[in-house]
Amino acid sequence: MCGIVAYIGHREAYPIVLKGLKRLEYRGYDSAGVALISDKIDVFKKQGKVARLEESLLGTHLPSTIGIGHTRWATHGEPSDRNAHPHLSASGRISMIHNGIIENYASLKQELLNKGYQFNSDTDTEVLLNFIDDILSNNKCSLEEAVRIALKRVVGAYVIVMLDAENPDTLIAARKGSPLVIGIGENEHFLASDASPIIEYTKEVVYINDYELAIIKGNELVLKNLGNETITPFVHQLDMELAAIEKGGYEHFMLKEIHEQPTTIFDCLRGRLDMVNGEIIMAGVQEHIEALKNAKRIIVVACGTSWHAGLVAEYIIEELCRIPVEVEYASEFRYRNPIIEKGDVLFAISQSGETADTLVAIEKAKQQGAIIFGILNVVGSSIARISHAGAYTHAGPEIGVASTKAFTAQLVVLTMIALKIAKAKKTISDDRFLHLMQELNAVPDKVESILSNTENIQAIAQKHALASSFLYLGRGYNFPVALEGALKLKEISYIHAEGYPAAEMKHGPIALVDENLPVLFVATKDAYHEKVISNMQEINARKGKLIAVVTEGDQSIDSLTGDLIFVPEADELIAPIINVVPLQLLSYYIGTARGLDVDRPRNLAKSVTVE
Ligand code: GLU
Repeated sequence: MCGIVAYIGHREAYPIVLKGLKRLEYRGYDSAGVALISDKIDVFKKQGKVARLEESLLGTHLPSTIGIGHTRWATHGEPSDRNAHPHLSASGRISMIHNGIIENYASLKQELLNKGYQFNSDTDTEVLLNFIDDILSNNKCSLEEAVRIALKRVVGAYVIVMLDAENPDTLIAARKGSPLVIGIGENEHFLASDASPIIEYTKEVVYINDYELAIIKGNELVLKNLGNETITPFVHQLDMELAAIEKGGYEHFMLKEIHEQPTTIFDCLRGRLDMVNGEIIMAGVQEHIEALKNAKRIIVVACGTSWHAGLVAEYIIEELCRIPVEVEYASEFRYRNPIIEKGDVLFAISQSGETADTLVAIEKAKQQGAIIFGILNVVGSSIARISHAGAYTHAGPEIGVASTKAFTAQLVVLTMIALKIAKAKKTISDDRFLHLMQELNAVPDKVESILSNTENIQAIAQKHALASSFLYLGRGYNFPVALEGALKLKEISYIHAEGYPAAEMKHGPIALVDENLPVLFVATKDAYHEKVISNMQEINARKGKLIAVVTEGDQSIDSLTGDLIFVPEADELIAPIINVVPLQLLSYYIGTARGLDVDRPRNLAKSVTVE
């Protein structure tokens, strides 16, 4: 959450920082601001999206070659001009942008109030900033030293980047718990929350670790820990192309990302699904195959859409590997006193690899001896760095706030992992193993066939765009798909939507059914098919508006009345990867029919780096 950008070098900073903020806007869009240096620090900030800030600065000459910028996802204080970042310290000497939460801000603020400090915002950020300002004015020390002293007292998560009016050629940054990447150019440096603002300038990056400080003075980058020891930066090469973060002719990133799925799924399978030798090649899994095979239990921790991928994995792993699986919300797991025993393996699923709750949940499980396996999309992310092993989903950057292609890639990876464990454990027959490999191999074409004919889904979206509530139902492997469909609709259209196991309908939700309620069934052919058909009949009998995702050529649904969405036939275990695609499209078309900003839904932000 929140996008941070900074530049120091030989070019004008403002256009680079502004462009970077636009690229990071998916991380938060409550307000935007920049700080630059003239003979003093100049701060410009505006509530709302980056475009408003840009408009307000049109025609202003801003020659500074050093600058910081921020696009906010508010945690402390409403979205407003005064709460927008960058903030300026009481002395006017330092300006700061911050991603995260300073948990002990209230006590620090009280200390500062007692000393006569006044505050111009309600943010925790301004408290940390003035805390540093105060240390600086009371001790004859450098800003770097003051930051180090201050951070030892801070509880919480942060990336901070600061300008210092007394050292106008220096940027200082620090991190704990939130992400920060530094791009290294020719006599210039770019700092950002992720690599997307950096790739058009350089592919050489350094990822900053927790409790590290980056000091960039002129052309020189120095990394230090909080104990003032110098750390040698490790330079990574970015493996990302600019086209991956641009809309490429689509109206929205979400639509582009939905349509990318045949390719992203293919990329995820590539080099792993060895059809010639009938093998699945995954180095991270292979390395830990003994631990995985002998796992007493697999605990999946995740949030949101990734949690739904975890639920599908539970069904698949228990079926194929006969290992008990528990799927936990990371935010609950981290604060419970969970029982972790020898032989437990923890799967952490996160698109960004920065999800704050998942990160802490992992740390907790790791301390108690669990093996941590990350299923992540962003290479080099924090979770990747603290996991013992893992598998990347290779879906490419996901900019639309509501996850689509990352979800299907997670399902593909989890299915391959389950197959690999099952094979090693001999809990799957060779025939079934090969059949499921073939089914996985066929997924990109099946998804393509759904995407090449979306008129029916668009028409259904138009018909139901004004609904105030939706019910999503499914059984077995399709139950988590129903949950994901409901979540997508909520996120994108602001229509209240609930997902339920279809058979649970009679235990409560059926009371909601009347002639105004759309009830969507994920009802492709599987072991429960006949039972789901009966559930659909029950909705028809109560005049609910039935919508169903069904298998092409299925005649058992002929007696039903409602809107049908046909998808290609697939093994029930693989079907979730295919069945979720029409639900993504339905949400997208309902959201756009309601005139909403589907890439930046209200109150949401990508990469939830605060708890
Ligand atoms: N806690 C800070 C604020 O509310 C930073 C939030 C963010 O990460 O955008 O302003």
